[in-house]
Amino acid sequence: MAEPLFRRLALLGVGLIGSSVARAARERGGLAGEVVANARSEATLARVRDLGIADRTEIDPARAVEGADCVMLCAPVGSYAQLAEAIAPHLAPGCILTDVGSTKQSVIRDVGPLVPEGVHFVPGHPLAGTEYSGPDAGFASLFEGRWCLLTPPPGTDAEAVERMAEFWRRCGSMVSGMEPAHHDRVLAIVSHLPHLIAFTICGTADDLEGETRQEVLQFAASGFRDFTRIAASDPAMWRDIFLNNREALLEMLARFTEDAQAMARAVRWGDTEYIEDRILRGRKIRQSLIELKQA
Ligand code: NAP
Repeated sequence: MAEPLFRRLALLGVGLIGSSVARAARERGGLAGEVVANARSEATLARVRDLGIADRTEIDPARAVEGADCVMLCAPVGSYAQLAEAIAPHLAPGCILTDVGSTKQSVIRDVGPLVPEGVHFVPGHPLAGTEYSGPDAGFASLFEGRWCLLTPPPGTDAEAVERMAEFWRRCGSMVSGMEPAHHDRVLAIVSHLPHLIAFTICGTADDLEGETRQEVLQFAASGFRDFTRIAASDPAMWRDIFLNNREALLEMLARFTEDAQAMARAVRWGDTEYIEDRILRGRKIRQSLIELKQA
């Protein structure tokens, strides 16, 4: 088995993503000699102990990071500034500070200025997840065959970036570098906007009065059912993503609204060619995803 990449890995946040990293470290080997888990509540840490997925649990983030050579922020992105402030003076020189947050410009904005001299800051985002949250939701194979994007700020130590790339490869991921603003635009269209639409459509259905709402639930066809799966995601996490990728999300929403209006016009005027063309484009995108094994 390969030597562990890190002697001690501290996970700040041990929900779906943090606990999946902890499980991968346990099951795969070669990732970390020791895993320390931190969460906001004692209840979550008690569950982590029951599950046996970390070597140590620590309610105080400052204590959790002591002596760690890799610290990974795995909490909602809106909590990063406060967490970074709490841990910054306690980070060991030479350690890598990384994260899994779904927005990247905000993380660099909130955490970057607090990173002490001699600590390597390598923001990252594993493009893997489910609609479930908490330490019970994680599983070791979550990252297998999925992309992980690293968005190190200019001047980041290349060796630290390569270590994080190797970390995610050992979790089974494919790794790519990306410029943070570009990351946020790409994720706005492939993830953040679809979630916004799912939350909205469920709200619209829920607003329908009485009998109709009953029937919506009773006869939910696959289209609506798929939206409800996405809409079951964690509210705090998604609130933070929307607020921390505001510009890109609003831009994609504006484009989407224009395209939806164009479709509405085609429906109104019976423009079959336009309607068929749009549906065909959707099918082609689905086909490409299947071919890329990302469906
Ligand atoms: P989760 O299952 O809801 O777990 C969140 C963890 O963060 C919990 O351990 C929670 O502790 C802790 N936490 C919550 N609020 C906190 C605060 N204010 N201060 C300190 N700790 C706090 O979330 P997740 O799905 O693992 O997501 C974690 C991160 O990964 C987010 O930044 C998200 O954007 C990113 N991400 C998520 C997905 C996905 O599909 N879920 C995919 C890729 C990346 P308690 O349990 O004690 O509250």
